[in-house]
Amino acid sequence: MSSSKMTLRETLRLHMRAFRTIRRIRPWLFASITAASAASAVTPYIAVYFSARIIDELAAQRRVEVLKNLVLAALIAVGVITLVSGVLGAIKNVMMASCRIRKDKIYPEKIFSMDFADLDDARTRDLRAQIQQNEWWAGWGFDVFIDTWKALAKSIAGIMGAAALTFSLFVSRVPEGSSLALLNHPAAGVALVILFGVCTAIGPACRNKINRDYANISEKARFANRLYGAFGFICHETHRAADFRIYNQGPIALGYLKTGVGVFGTKGELAGKARAGIAAVCAMGEMAAGALMTGIVYAFVCLKAWAGAFGVGSVTQYVGAATALSANLAKLFGSVGVLRTNAVFLKNIYEFLDIPNAMYQGSLTTEKRADRRYEVEFCDVSFKYPGTDVWALRHVNMKFEIGKRLAIVGENGSGKTTFIKLLCRLYDPQEGQILLNGIDIRKYRYDDYMRIFSIVFQDFQLISQPLGANVAGAAQYDRERAERALGEAGFDERLHTMPKGLDTMLYKDIDKDGVDVSGGEAQKIAIARALYKDAPFIVLDEPTAALDPIAEAEIYAKFDEIAGDRTAIYISHRLSSCKFCDEITVFSGGSVIQKGTHEELLADGEGQYKLLWDAQAQYYNK
Ligand code: ADP
Repeated sequence: MSSSKMTLRETLRLHMRAFRTIRRIRPWLFASITAASAASAVTPYIAVYFSARIIDELAAQRRVEVLKNLVLAALIAVGVITLVSGVLGAIKNVMMASCRIRKDKIYPEKIFSMDFADLDDARTRDLRAQIQQNEWWAGWGFDVFIDTWKALAKSIAGIMGAAALTFSLFVSRVPEGSSLALLNHPAAGVALVILFGVCTAIGPACRNKINRDYANISEKARFANRLYGAFGFICHETHRAADFRIYNQGPIALGYLKTGVGVFGTKGELAGKARAGIAAVCAMGEMAAGALMTGIVYAFVCLKAWAGAFGVGSVTQYVGAATALSANLAKLFGSVGVLRTNAVFLKNIYEFLDIPNAMYQGSLTTEKRADRRYEVEFCDVSFKYPGTDVWALRHVNMKFEIGKRLAIVGENGSGKTTFIKLLCRLYDPQEGQILLNGIDIRKYRYDDYMRIFSIVFQDFQLISQPLGANVAGAAQYDRERAERALGEAGFDERLHTMPKGLDTMLYKDIDKDGVDVSGGEAQKIAIARALYKDAPFIVLDEPTAALDPIAEAEIYAKFDEIAGDRTAIYISHRLSSCKFCDEITVFSGGSVIQKGTHEELLADGEGQYKLLWDAQAQYYNK
């Protein structure tokens, strides 16, 4: 939606919401900004007021005592307000800095709690990239709102101060009988206020029009944002460094980046708007309006002083206050315009933050069974990835027998990983049901359900944390259990070479003494992590792909022992590694096409399993 279509009501609603969001994360922020801005806005008026009184005294009776007192009062008043303003400003700065840090947690918190399916959705990624780009662009969203609040508080306090100083301009009367007595008429004052308001509003109105144009192209900038999101930081991703060099990916990434950033560059549409006719017309209109307004104010004030309504000191007071009033009114109009533009960006932010966490709606707790008798069953399950029309799984039926070892095999893209993702509820199926002990898994509390699975995904991720914390998934953990898990995963020898043992930091992102582990070592740590979790189900998706043949053979030999009384699901391309499983399921094109033991499946001479087996075996036999 463009900001020109954004109603004032919607603008207010969105900003009230932003106000509540910010107040929740930094309660006294708005109060501190308001106090500091008000204090700094009224400071100049103190000098204006006392200068006027001093000039009046100098031009009239020139009493030394009065002059002395006025100067002293001015000094004290300016000193006190400067001090108060300085202290309030410092408090405000601290509040703003801490708010910025706390505010940065809003998006990670949302992302961490979001349904996996939504996170994976292109629209969500687009929205997130857009929000980020708008924030980097000019702080659109929460930052602009906070800055505008500051400007509003300052301008409203400034307007109140200026109004207090100009009030006597309208009530001071030109002596009756003077040819200028018509200036006493209320219409004269009203006309002055209207002309003053109109002239002041011209500049902000123009600027707001330009600002709205900026907001309107944010939709068009979406593709540029996407490119920026995809290529802007790619050079910092060290795991890409080798491919970058070998496959010349650098120039390609830079080329895309140039196209993306071009939208915001000097030759882009935005810059064009700034150079367009409207910008020139605005600048000239603003200049003319400013000159006209100053002329009118000077004429009104000087004529009244000329006719004897007030002294010369008051002239400086009224002119000074009127100038400040005009600046503050312009700031107020401008701020309202900025809020209307900003509402478009806030709308995006709340669209993202409001994505419902549908998966978290189940309320049943899973039974805590010491006997680990958790039975999971797929009943005619079909699934398509969000945004696609192709069934990744079709009519899948499967029952996991408690404590058994199940192997899942099949060609690339046959649906094996998708099957696991559904099993652990990263996605919900569009058709059919998955049952845990006879109840649809959607009815369970999500986090509770997740507790029954230990999974090693193909693309598992370890983080820059000490080794033990990675294994345990917590900073405080049972060290003995972590060492045992690493031992079972075949990592014990390497562990003993690490000087800090479990406390060795993985990778160098946050500690220069961190240790970079190889792909195979990382895979062992990932397996140890799954073992430490000690859940009733253990799922290994291609668990040995990065291991050397000896390590792989070790894992196979120990797999039965490792799995213990858990129900184990094992996905592998290497059929020889599945022989030990109680049952083997063969996937093809998203469906289960064969089930049985290794011997049973081999006996089916026409079956897919036999085909796959022969294809692999021929190299060994030769
Ligand atoms: P396998 O693990 O057997 O290699 P997958 O389960 O990963 O196969 O993939 C099954 C099908 O789903 C493939 O056609 C794949 O292209 C598609 N697919 C996998 N992940 C996604 C995704 N995130 N979005 C859309 N399609 C996907």
